[in-house]
Amino acid sequence: MKSDAPEASLAAEPGAYLFEPRHHEFRQLVRSFVDREVNPHADAWEAAGHVPRDLFHKAGELGLFKHGVPEAEGGTGIDCRMAIVMSEEISRGHTRGVGMALGAHNEIAKPHLVRFGTPLQKSKYLADMIAGRKVGALGVTEPKAGTNVAGIKTTAVRDGDGWLLSGEKMYITNGVDADLFFIAAKTDPARGRQGISMLLVERDTPGFSRTELTGKLGRLASDTGYLKFDNCRLPASALIGAVNQGFYQIMQCFEHERIVIAAGCVGLAEVSLDETVAYVKQRGYGDGHLADMQVTKQRLAKSYMELEAARQLVYGTAWRVVRGIPSLKEVAMAKAFAAEAACRIIDDCLQLHGGAGYLSAYPIQRAYRDIRLDRIGGGTTEVMYDIIAKQKGI
Ligand SMILES: Cc1cc2nc3c(=O)[nH]c(=O)nc-3n(C[C@H](O)[C@H](O)[C@H](O)COP(=O)(O)OP(=O)(O)OC[C@H]3O[C@@H](n4cnc5c(N)ncnc54)[C@H](O)[C@@H]3O)c2cc1C
Repeated sequence: MKSDAPEASLAAEPGAYLFEPRHHEFRQLVRSFVDREVNPHADAWEAAGHVPRDLFHKAGELGLFKHGVPEAEGGTGIDCRMAIVMSEEISRGHTRGVGMALGAHNEIAKPHLVRFGTPLQKSKYLADMIAGRKVGALGVTEPKAGTNVAGIKTTAVRDGDGWLLSGEKMYITNGVDADLFFIAAKTDPARGRQGISMLLVERDTPGFSRTELTGKLGRLASDTGYLKFDNCRLPASALIGAVNQGFYQIMQCFEHERIVIAAGCVGLAEVSLDETVAYVKQRGYGDGHLADMQVTKQRLAKSYMELEAARQLVYGTAWRVVRGIPSLKEVAMAKAFAAEAACRIIDDCLQLHGGAGYLSAYPIQRAYRDIRLDRIGGGTTEVMYDIIAKQKGI
């Protein structure tokens, strides 16, 4: 017998085995936040190239930065499911730049403090990050070292009881507006990846400058910066985690970042498909509509199938991660598959819009520009394939 009870409909959802009632409640919270606080301003923020600081405050007040933090430290616990829900929902909004700005703060920078910060560092910064009063950024990539993290040239040299930081960082999300920068630097250059440490740099540190990078393809509402450190004097307390363990700390945090990116791909591909179905149902063709053509139906059916495969890979991987099962290979698979699938799906969606899809009047144009980053950021698809091959002993 068919039941309209909410429990019955939730039990039929694709993530029924993964999510609990609190995740469904969180999904509704994020969805209403996006509808109320993001969508009405999406075009203005895309034009400005920045997300206003006020949005971080509002997100913080709602508790959207509490997940990923133990309850004893003011959070709602370490659990990637909240992050997955948030990434999916924000990606369904009218600008992915917002998801990028909030995500860089909450899912990419903050975990370095939560996982590796000392009690003193946490007492100084964590409450402000959770409240959105201080915005974070992660700086690993450099002009001459992206994929090859071990090849970074930024150095932190001992200076009395502190450090002298020199070097450059490239393509850093929130790089212009952030307050707290988690920076990877060589503390023992001769040791390659075993000579990297993480340092926390405050915005107003003398010798630290930021330049906005313009001309991005997509994610226009998020700011992307070039950072320069010119003999910045940092206190000993700037070290995050252990000396020369930075590479391994970065790799640990990548697991979370990648599954969050994969979930965002699912969210954006799904909303793009739903919008495309609405479009082809009203777009006249002969006596009927585009949706009546078998080629349209087949194209959309194939895309929904790929979307479901991506979603199940993300959820199945999250299920493992929540249980603490080592999932390096699975996370790489989820990230690569979801990013590649979403790019294919959204390309097909634009094709089904015809010329209309090429213009900014339809959201598919922005989605097409925005999704392209997911094959590059957080580790390129090729790097994900490398990880999978290595884990398979190839
Ligand atoms: C909008 C935006 C926001 C970003 N935000 C941040 C941020 O907040 N913080 C941060 O640290 N970084 C950030 N990045 C950087 C991003 O993570 C890098 O661009 C990415 O890791 C790739 O590095 P790269 O650009 O140096 O490309 P490269 O490493 O030069 O790679 C170029 C090509 O070579 C391929 N390649 C490289 N090495 C291998 C290999 N071993 N095997 C096979 N193929 C290989 C790559 O897959 C790619 O196709 C951002 C980038 C962009 C565009």
